[in-house]
Amino acid sequence: MFDKILIANRGEIACRVIKTARRMGIKTVAVYSEADAKARHVRLADEAVLIGPAAARESYLVIDRIIAAAKQTGAQAIHPGYGFLSENEDFCEACEREGIVFIGPPVSAIRAMGSKSEAKKLMEAAGVPLTPGYHGDEQAPAYLHQQADAIGYPVLIKAAAGGGGKGMRLVEKSEDFIDLLASCKREAISSFGDDHVLVEKYITKPRHIEIQVFGDTHGNVVYLFERDCSVQRRHQKVLEEAPAPGMTPERRAAMGKAAVDAARAVGYVGAGTVEFIANQDGSFYFMEMNTRLQVEHPVTEMITGLDLVEWQLRVAAGEALPLAQEQLQIRGHALEARIYAEDPAKGFLPSTGRLIHLAPPAEGLHVRVDTGVEEGDEISPHYDPMIAKLIVWDEGGESSRARALARMLQALADYRVAGVANNIDFLSRLVACPAFAGADLDTGLIEREKSYLFPEDLALPDEVLQIAALAELLREAALAGKRAQRSADAHSPWHARDGWRMNATAHRTLLFRHGEAEHAVEVAYLPGAWRLALGGEGGERRVVEARGELNPRGLLRVELDGTRMDATVIAAAGRRHVFVRGRAWQLAAVDPLHHSGEGGGAEGGLLAPMPGKVIALVAAEGARVEKGAPLLILEAMKMEHTITAPAAGTVKAFRFAVGDQVGDGAELVEFEAAAAA
Ligand code: ADP
Ligand code: ADP
Ligand code: MG
Repeated sequence: MFDKILIANRGEIACRVIKTARRMGIKTVAVYSEADAKARHVRLADEAVLIGPAAARESYLVIDRIIAAAKQTGAQAIHPGYGFLSENEDFCEACEREGIVFIGPPVSAIRAMGSKSEAKKLMEAAGVPLTPGYHGDEQAPAYLHQQADAIGYPVLIKAAAGGGGKGMRLVEKSEDFIDLLASCKREAISSFGDDHVLVEKYITKPRHIEIQVFGDTHGNVVYLFERDCSVQRRHQKVLEEAPAPGMTPERRAAMGKAAVDAARAVGYVGAGTVEFIANQDGSFYFMEMNTRLQVEHPVTEMITGLDLVEWQLRVAAGEALPLAQEQLQIRGHALEARIYAEDPAKGFLPSTGRLIHLAPPAEGLHVRVDTGVEEGDEISPHYDPMIAKLIVWDEGGESSRARALARMLQALADYRVAGVANNIDFLSRLVACPAFAGADLDTGLIEREKSYLFPEDLALPDEVLQIAALAELLREAALAGKRAQRSADAHSPWHARDGWRMNATAHRTLLFRHGEAEHAVEVAYLPGAWRLALGGEGGERRVVEARGELNPRGLLRVELDGTRMDATVIAAAGRRHVFVRGRAWQLAAVDPLHHSGEGGGAEGGLLAPMPGKVIALVAAEGARVEKGAPLLILEAMKMEHTITAPAAGTVKAFRFAVGDQVGDGAELVEFEAAAAA
């Protein structure tokens, strides 16, 4: 076994690999960019080497720097994680050349599966069922258009080098094909440096079912059962589970065999995943093979009781697979939810910022949290905005899945994040939605269940306002207490900690904003408590007596008219994050002294929603455009964002050129709205 390995990655997967290496007594070397100098993976590793600036292209994707770091530290092997260089054949080759073990498949297998088109040709020859489509070399737009017409719409255009749900376009009708092809190729070039595409029949209501395979250098290949990753948004997995609901032993064996055949066809060694798209009747087609450890590998670990990173290390060190096919068994049911810094209500727009509060659920037999960040860390615009993977497991015969679901709901309810937008509430609704709970799965689930998953602005419960007000008052009281301790005069009135006031009957009003609405909480001071009143002025006046305790982490023990509950309230700048009953609410604390009607942003300007790079100017300067017309395309956080005209008007000037890097909130376009007719 190796003495020391280098991990050519960052975030949760780097931390995940370090954990197993440490357990096996293997030393670890982290690499990091300037943006990650204080990152968790750097803190966890035994050694760490700086490899360049924040941009992945100048750090995590620079082969020479990583190889140099391995040589400099004497690492014998490199674990590439997922993403970045994990499926890069040049990287694998460079390791081989330098006598460093690449913890992954041989370069020939990466090459064979690296292009979705080439992989499909190989799988065709190996007798693995394929999605109907065109995966040849001819790339002329007119030719591809013809092929699409022949396949029949809807079709999916896919970048042959694509991954991570990028470089894919759904085409519903022939007229749209050419435009979408151009957009697909543009994304493919900017993300993968290769604009080769294939065209496939778009399967309606499919499930994504993938098989985990493992090979060793002794000719053994096994499959570690399936994962169902049907719940996706924008072709990216959101929830994954194992085993797949409704899977029969016969179908499992058939898919397992197809996956093992696919792996054998390319001389596969190490961990790999064969992805299939399955029809509701259970028939399935090969989609692609990911020649690395998959993001969602933990669900397989939970149901098999195995450590796949340990298997990877053993295989890379030349050992035989620890278990044979007959020795592998499924126990219970596991689910994984990807916790992202993103705003589901705004089209899952990634969010950046500091994690001012991060409290994951407690880990144990049923709950596992894989993460690369801790409280105080930054979610930067440079990398994937994943905060953590939350994995749960349970067993109980027929009810294993239902139990795992209940575990997930509880764990999500206990998960508290403030500082960045996040998808935790969304995930809770997703797990609870009848379609998911009833295992009525397909890749369109999120789209179909929209009304359930994206409820219209939820009315703010009184309780949330009462809790926010109580936290405010307790915080003030604590401050007053501290002040009194510091004060020399023991008889100072500041010693009265329970809200002593010159005029004990004086009322005070606390103001909070939720969305557009402003809410007033009237406060009256009582001994050791407060009377809080909401409403009035025409509406019904609701009064409660509130008391509680607030600890410095924001944990709040609340008593409202004698009813006890726990909550968390985090104050950051003007915001108040209230977590109660498994939901998060964001309020703005309104300072009545600075209360004026504030105007919104730069006038006539169109602002960058986040830091990114300008990749296309769509409109011409001086052009008159309609409301909603695309003006400019920004690439940020691995996605294209189209900036559109806010109204009919004239594009006066672009402030940036194609290729320019722009900051958050930068004014991109000078725009003059036409005077209303
Ligand atoms: P990536 O490399 O980005 O993972 P995949 O080829 O694995 O690309 O496809 C990603 C997702 O896109 C799948 O999980 C599935 O939801 C959807 N998808 C892919 N091919 C098809 C298809 N032919 N019909 C319908 N959906 C598809
Ligand atoms: P999986 O099927 O394992 O989810 P994906 O193809 O979706 O695999 O991508 C793996 C993960 O790696 C995703 O979370 C994706 O966002 C991330 N990823 C892919 N490419 C990169 C990259 N260049 N830099 C950082 N993360 C990446
Ligand atoms: Mg895929």
